[in-house]
Amino acid sequence: MKHADLTLVVPAYNERDNVRPFLGELRRALEGRQEAVEVLFVDDGGSDGTWGEVVAAARSWDDRRVAVRGLSLSRNFGKEAAMLAGLEAARGDCLCIIDADLQQPPAVALKMYDLLMASPDYDCVAAFQRERRRGGPTGALSSAFYRLLGSASGMEVLPDASDFRVFRRCVADAIVSMPEYHRFSKGLFAWVGFRTLPFPYVPEERRAGSSTWGFRALASYAWEGIVSFSTAPLRAVLAFGVVCAALALVMLLVTVVKRVALGVDTPGYATIVTLILFFGGAQLVAIGLVGEYVARTYVQSKRRPVYLVRDRVSSDGDGAEGGEA
Ligand code: UDP
Ligand code: MG
Repeated sequence: MKHADLTLVVPAYNERDNVRPFLGELRRALEGRQEAVEVLFVDDGGSDGTWGEVVAAARSWDDRRVAVRGLSLSRNFGKEAAMLAGLEAARGDCLCIIDADLQQPPAVALKMYDLLMASPDYDCVAAFQRERRRGGPTGALSSAFYRLLGSASGMEVLPDASDFRVFRRCVADAIVSMPEYHRFSKGLFAWVGFRTLPFPYVPEERRAGSSTWGFRALASYAWEGIVSFSTAPLRAVLAFGVVCAALALVMLLVTVVKRVALGVDTPGYATIVTLILFFGGAQLVAIGLVGEYVARTYVQSKRRPVYLVRDRVSSDGDGAEGGEA
């Protein structure tokens, strides 16, 4: 199958026990439908035999309307890199990014596809969580983060959007054309624009395995998003410096006037030490912050590939080379 109406891009990191159930669910969801569908698993350098499962599934696949393909990356590059690899290799007219763990059911992906097909004015259908899976402080922090990112970057970022979305080829081409090394998909999708329909869904429980996203990973992901899409922190540091300098000037004037006009000395050992410590700290923070941006420029300037492919497989036997290439 050279052509597909829809490609499901499935990043999979240590998802061995989810590969077959995923394909089973998809097959059930496709019953009675006419579309040519391609499933593209991107094995993100896992160590649990996910790739073996994908190869076995592709080799034994017998449903001609669905092509099962797979890419195996040379190591774990992270979900963002896996998604890019998938988008670059997909052949479908429409694409869907969907997790391998069945938290995002294939049947919902097809509903989103139908909605996109019925909405010619739109180019993307983005699922958002109607009920947050992560409750408590992490959920609240996450909502606050998306509001902050939206206002810092001036982009329209859907607060509860996930990477789960269905979009036309024009959107995929736009995403792939962005050469950045540090990729933050929610920001990339917001940046490229196109008309996006939100689609509410309730995520299921993870079928097998465990999530790789702890609090630390989420925090560093959030930081990545801010630094990748906004230079507002640099401006904030600049503004802070200006305010401090202005305050220092006022203090200087007050001290001089008090000494000259009123003859009052201002003793202030504690004040001086506190101020030195405070501004020493503030300067290090500012340098560190600038460093974050410089480091990203440095990494980007090396122009290393975002991912490397180790192996490919396809149920229709013609490899998994990139779409039109
Ligand atoms: N994933 C990946 N590379 C990674 C981490 C995760 O491709 O380094 C995939 C994973 O296999 C899953 C999806 O990204 O299909 C979402 O990951 P996970 O379920 O751990 O995240 P959560 O659902 O908790 O946000
Ligand atoms: Mg998950």
